Amino acid sequence: MEKGGVCLGLITNTAGNRLVEVEEGTVIMAPNIIITSMDKLINWSRRSSLWPMTFGLACCAIEMMATYASHNDLDRMGIIPRGSPRQSDFMFVAGTVTKKMAQIVRRVYDQMPEPRYVISVGSCASTGGIFNTYSTVQGCDSILPVDVYIPGCPPRPEAFIDGIIKLQEKIKNEHFRWSRWR
Ligand code: SF4
Repeated sequence: MEKGGVCLGLITNTAGNRLVEVEEGTVIMAPNIIITSMDKLINWSRRSSLWPMTFGLACCAIEMMATYASHNDLDRMGIIPRGSPRQSDFMFVAGTVTKKMAQIVRRVYDQMPEPRYVISVGSCASTGGIFNTYSTVQGCDSILPVDVYIPGCPPRPEAFIDGIIKLQEKIKNEHFRWSRWR
């Protein structure tokens, strides 16, 4: 049983009265039950089907595509890229954000439904990287609320997966996330 996840009971006695162990040391009588809170159930379903917006800005996006590909197989984590912000749960900001593109990035984010999340990928998206110039945004957190930062230039697919797991951990601990505005 996953700690902090949806608590599925384990049926320990199928003859006569059924005993269900809902957590270690706690046994109650009832068949086929699930005990949980709405927070845990909703957070569990959300983090198990995160759909990212298909969107890339520079070379980090190549690594993002490699992460989506069969070798790393994000489908097994319920992560299926979407072609529309209307169907997306989160966005990878993958690459250098120029000031020319900043308003486009923000518009795509604004078109995503709540709850929505942002993962900043690589040095350029997180800090501007080596491009400390007049034309480059020095960190996408100046235009978007970033939830997770992935370091690297570019980050490997393993780092992408680690960033997604960090986001899933954040979602797991959310409370009434859907009723907030940010
Ligand atoms: S962090 Fe490196 S790989 Fe990623 S967009 Fe910038 S220069 Fe390209």
